[in-house]
Amino acid sequence: MVGGVIIGGNAPVVVQSMTNTDTEHAQSTAQQVFELAKAGSELVRITVNTAEAAAQVPRIRELLDAMGCDVPLIGDFHYNGHRLLTEYPECAQALAKYRINPGNVGKNRKGEDQFAMMISVAIKYNKPVRIGVNWGSLDQDLVVRMMDENARLARPKEVAEVTREALIVSALDSARRAEELGLPHDRIVLSCKVSEVQDLIAVYRELARRCDYPLHLGLTEAGMGSKGIVASTAALAVLLQEGIGDTIRVSLTPEPGGDRTQEVLVAQEILQTMGLRSFAPMVTACPGCGRTTSTVFQELAQNIQIYLREQMPLWRAQYSGVEEMTVAVMGCIVNGPGESKLANIGISLPGTGENPAAPVYVDGERVTTLRGDNIAQEFQKIVDGYVARNYAAKEAGETVHREIPIWPVVESRRD
Ligand code: SF4
Repeated sequence: MVGGVIIGGNAPVVVQSMTNTDTEHAQSTAQQVFELAKAGSELVRITVNTAEAAAQVPRIRELLDAMGCDVPLIGDFHYNGHRLLTEYPECAQALAKYRINPGNVGKNRKGEDQFAMMISVAIKYNKPVRIGVNWGSLDQDLVVRMMDENARLARPKEVAEVTREALIVSALDSARRAEELGLPHDRIVLSCKVSEVQDLIAVYRELARRCDYPLHLGLTEAGMGSKGIVASTAALAVLLQEGIGDTIRVSLTPEPGGDRTQEVLVAQEILQTMGLRSFAPMVTACPGCGRTTSTVFQELAQNIQIYLREQMPLWRAQYSGVEEMTVAVMGCIVNGPGESKLANIGISLPGTGENPAAPVYVDGERVTTLRGDNIAQEFQKIVDGYVARNYAAKEAGETVHREIPIWPVVESRRD
């Protein structure tokens, strides 16, 4: 579908994120959704945990529409989703998709009824559902039953293996139940999130083998800073390389006061560095060494990276294909000219104590040498000129924001 968010089939892997604002505060939630969407999140999930939060969801949608942001909203429901979705029909309609955690819908007959209530709302409003199982909230009755069965085996399996199997069984049984209740097969996405890399890889390999539902991929509770980024990347890269995963979220814990959009950038960079999708020009930069003892080189690499990211919303609207541009910022002549020639645009700074001259290469040709205190600004101008000359201008008004239908489309993975 042109301009639509399609999850599964042969569609590109979709980047999604989640807010950490109080959904009862419509203004701050809409603002954060807007920022996540502007950073490139193609779907944004919000917590819907109270009656007031449910009441505010239509208002959040209205605020976003007024900002020209049509990113689909996903509602995250636990414990009381059956009541919120039935008692707040405008919330149910404003959301593009519901996330249901089978471990948090209630127990026994009551739980089955509550799950059925949520599925009936999804059917009524033609919404896709993610059956999102999580290690930390796995149905304990199911775990106990499977552990008991395992204990009776002649050769019982390891506890971790039984627990992984319980995650998969919970997701598949819930999906089957949703279909029995009338939810179409192609309106279901599955996830089985765990917080350990090897467990996640094992669970998703098995899940992918046993079903053709599109899979939402993510390491839950990945952590903060470099640990969260590395753990998420290690797990997701292995699975994505095997073709497993149709939409991803990187669950980073933000630094206090940190920027929530970091999780979007990390997700994009995982996909882009793996060559699966392009979102923004990539900067190749050397690590620096004893030949770059000043901060000039680091500052230039940082400046150009920030500049490219900041320009992308504008460039994306104006030019086609600019996200595939490559830029090199190198510290000295040892590898600088070589890497710079391989990039669309490259600059090789002088190493410490060398002649303060920075040759610039465009499509492999040396075009100029920058000197003095304004190298960063002059290099940005060269980048601007390259973009304007080399990427086809879009028709006026062709696209400012991606045209995303309110309903994400779900396709089975093996179409
Ligand atoms: S390109 Fe020069 S500055 Fe950069 S790591 Fe190599 S030797 Fe060091």
